[in-house]
Amino acid sequence: MKAGSAAEDLISRAVDLFQSGLALATSFSIEDVALIHMLVSADPGKKATILAIDTGRLPEDTFACAQALIRKYAIEIEWLYPNPQRLANFVSSQGLYSFKESLEARKECCYIRKVEPLRRRLRTLSAWITGQRREQTHLRSQLQVVEIDKANGSIVKLNPLCYWTSEQVFQYVKHNNIPYSRLYDRGYKSIGCAPCTRPVAPHEDERAGRWWWESDEHKECGIHVGEANTACANDRQ
Ligand code: SF4
Repeated sequence: MKAGSAAEDLISRAVDLFQSGLALATSFSIEDVALIHMLVSADPGKKATILAIDTGRLPEDTFACAQALIRKYAIEIEWLYPNPQRLANFVSSQGLYSFKESLEARKECCYIRKVEPLRRRLRTLSAWITGQRREQTHLRSQLQVVEIDKANGSIVKLNPLCYWTSEQVFQYVKHNNIPYSRLYDRGYKSIGCAPCTRPVAPHEDERAGRWWWESDEHKECGIHVGEANTACANDRQ
């Protein structure tokens, strides 16, 4: 079976099984736009939800990409936002660039702006789809296609692109004429908040441009960190 069709089939089965309890969480990365294309095809009745987190620090290209996808596919994006009071307290006490001061300060910013808003929504769901791939970083090298997300109420976590290479993802996106963030054309290999993401050299790791001042073992925002065990370890595609 081709990688594309296996991922498409998994999403189709997830829509049938979880219906409105299913969501795709997107940062508008190249993986996520491919998944949006697959979800639109698998879910013409739009039962599943497409979630995105507006951290307040996203680059303009991310919104442009979102708008292009909305226009092409007539989809709705459910935007999630940080708790306003908590964010106001955080900014007023820590300032706007505390994430540069220490790992703990950076993780606190990620928690308030990204992790908590998503967790709040995941609590209401049965399953979610992510664009994670094994190849992206050694922290994701043990990723499985289907996992139980213990950090988020033991809901099902689907990683349909788990075994895809970056090249396969780009080929899929180009082949299907899917709108994608123009940041990729400017040397970015990963999409995140504007002050914490930069372009990387061709030989560098895909996530080298994220929090580049930190060592590799810390390059996660916290959304995908936590206990997740394998529900279907051999579902290789
Ligand atoms: S990526 Fe940077 S700006 Fe965005 S939430 Fe994390 S630390 Fe804050």
